[in-house]
Amino acid sequence: MPRIMLLGAPGSGKGTQAAMLVQRYEVPRISSGDALRSNLEEGTPLGLTAKRYMEAGELVPDEVIIALVEDLIEKADTKNGLLLDGFPRTIAQAEALDELLGNKDMGLEKVVYLNVSKDTLLQRLSLRRICKDCGASYHLESLPPKQEGICDKCGAGLIQREDDKRETVEKRLEVYNEQTKPLVDYYKKKGILSEIDGKSGMSPETIEMQIEEILE
Ligand code: AMP
Repeated sequence: MPRIMLLGAPGSGKGTQAAMLVQRYEVPRISSGDALRSNLEEGTPLGLTAKRYMEAGELVPDEVIIALVEDLIEKADTKNGLLLDGFPRTIAQAEALDELLGNKDMGLEKVVYLNVSKDTLLQRLSLRRICKDCGASYHLESLPPKQEGICDKCGAGLIQREDDKRETVEKRLEVYNEQTKPLVDYYKKKGILSEIDGKSGMSPETIEMQIEEILE
């Protein structure tokens, strides 16, 4: 599997696809959001710094995130490749990543852009529930757990992420449009962007098949 990045708005399905792809290709998933949430839970200094930005639906400052992701990449076993999920989210982060991976001679090969309409994003985020222990993601309509409120995978309780509540979601989408969407052009210019039109009602499996075609 090549070195890839999933690009898309909150709720575009990056997390769901990332979980499927890492199992299939046995590559590490580097998720800045997951790493921040672990730091928050453990109450580390990084978690405390990130907390107020995350709760407000804003981006954590570039220097903090770049240092965090550098560390995650250093520690990961990247011999088969790697999958970036939720990073980079700004042009400055993308440039830092280019430098970091370029220095290791392992630059990004593909960026898969999950393009989903705002209505679908809002609907997905408001009905998203995640497992409080293993982080598995559900959707109350399209991907409900077998037993209400309980994770199929580990049996723990499901919760709604604090930042999936309506007011924060609006802010996250605005931040995405302003700061992250410019990455579509950034990677288009580099010739490594492939776009998937994630229409509402498309199953995660259909999208996964399209990603596999892109990767082959
Ligand atoms: P996610 O789970 O990827 O949606 O991330 C949750 C929150 O963590 C975001 O709303 C941001 O506050 C923060 N975050 C995650 N990744 C980044 C990043 N690459 N740059 C800045 N902030 C981030």
